[in-house]
Amino acid sequence: MSEQPYELERRRTFAIISHPDAGKTTLTEKLLLFGGAIQLAGTVKGRKAARHATSDWMEMEKERGISVTTSVMQFEHMGRIVNLLDTPGHEDFSEDTYRTLTAVDSALMVIDSAKGVEERTIKLMEVCRLRDTPILTFINKLDREGREPIELLDEVESVLNIQCTPMTWPIGMGKRFKGVYNLREDAIHLFSPTHGGKIVKGEVIQGLDNPKLDEVLGDMADELRGEIELVQGASHEFDLQAYLAGKQTPVFFGSAINNFGIQELLDAFAEFAPSPFPRQARQRVVQPDEEKFSGVVFKIQANMDPQHRDRIAFMRVNSGKFTKGMKLYHVRTGKQMQVSNAMTFQADSREHVDEAWPGDIIGLPNHGTIQVGDTFTQGENLKFEGIPYFAPELFRRVVLKDPLRAKALQKGLQQLSEEGATQLFKPMKNNDLILGAVGVLQFDVTAFRLKSEYNVDCVYDGISVTTARWVSCDDPKKLEDFKKKCFDNLGEDGGGYLVYLAPSRVNLQLTQERWPDIHFSATREL
Ligand code: GDP
Repeated sequence: MSEQPYELERRRTFAIISHPDAGKTTLTEKLLLFGGAIQLAGTVKGRKAARHATSDWMEMEKERGISVTTSVMQFEHMGRIVNLLDTPGHEDFSEDTYRTLTAVDSALMVIDSAKGVEERTIKLMEVCRLRDTPILTFINKLDREGREPIELLDEVESVLNIQCTPMTWPIGMGKRFKGVYNLREDAIHLFSPTHGGKIVKGEVIQGLDNPKLDEVLGDMADELRGEIELVQGASHEFDLQAYLAGKQTPVFFGSAINNFGIQELLDAFAEFAPSPFPRQARQRVVQPDEEKFSGVVFKIQANMDPQHRDRIAFMRVNSGKFTKGMKLYHVRTGKQMQVSNAMTFQADSREHVDEAWPGDIIGLPNHGTIQVGDTFTQGENLKFEGIPYFAPELFRRVVLKDPLRAKALQKGLQQLSEEGATQLFKPMKNNDLILGAVGVLQFDVTAFRLKSEYNVDCVYDGISVTTARWVSCDDPKKLEDFKKKCFDNLGEDGGGYLVYLAPSRVNLQLTQERWPDIHFSATREL
């Protein structure tokens, strides 16, 4: 294990958080470009298109302009191994995003300079805060007219409650955008718009006092000097510890579409972003440098390639080292699993993994044996804590058009719900199949995928379920009694857990009052 400290130290695992349209997809692409993982920008979109060719439901994704899937991209930069976890942009898939955020060590927040802090950014920051995830900030679209940079930083500080420290500072904006001043290096990086896959180094002027600056910028040079003096007086100095504790965010300005400001961002990311943190398991804290392997599944994705009908469980390595062919202990089932076909993900391909270190994400092909939240170890009974399932707010009864396809429907619903976007409930009193979701779009995606991947036609009916609560009780006798009396409103979720399906809020409240010893939970721990 002598390479362990080296391999661990150089891992950087992160995700991008933003409000839709701020430029996450563009920035992802440009990070891959500057990271040398792709030759030509366009590959992220190309990747979408290629998958769409083999998978029909991507058509729907394309039509609606949303990205439904999460994927993992690994590349090397400045000797660091960077794992970028992509997250779905649409808010109906926010649970998926929340779970992905449990698998990263830091995040990159993208803000549109014209729009400032938007609603989804606020929500995602709340999730990051649960773990004090360190955040770098990129303020995008400086090539357009936007809001004053000072005002944007103020807004981030007051709305998101995090200290800002500018690492670069924009010189003008929109048509007058001239570049950025790098405060740490005392250097001006001049803007030259370059679209697509070209990386142009661009002219760099060393030193704010350099007379060359006056030649190039004219009056704007003195404006810049004045502004920087102000900014340096008014803002906080970069404090690595405060950043790592999630209390301060270093801020970069640029234009993703113009390949500008990306180099500074990526270099700082490689230098400062944290290597894997210790992880909290229910039993104890697991250190990444422990010799024994452990990992946790944060996402399941079925049918990434319909020709192979595969299901991939995405596992984050939390400690030790994974090697090909290794025997892993599947804690929930108590079974040993020999893993010889685990996958790793590059920007545009996937390959078999030979070894993986903490922070890395590996894909385990399986046929439904693995669930989101499952822990794997080398024998120890550990259970990593994660973001729970949330009680859905929307419910539909699934109606099958061809009764002979009932089995396929069951299988499809079960598998799709294990991916985590929808939840499946089976009432005790009848054979209904009820789908629960947090966003309406999830129902459409499920119907679409049932048709294209399982050849099952279904429609939805309304059903008088308003919300669900997971039910438990310390006293088995009382629980039995409750099950008898409330039989009509009880069911099981996809994982076999007991659920109370409430026809109305009032009903739920009355039932809770009537059964004080029963515990009603709005979330289910993974
Ligand atoms: P996402 O929804 O956050 O993934 O955002 P996208 O990357 O798809 O970008 C949303 C829109 O903003 C697209 O039309 C992009 O071309 C555009 N965009 C991204 N970066 C920039 C930028 O630096 N400047 C300008 N003007 N537009 C940008």
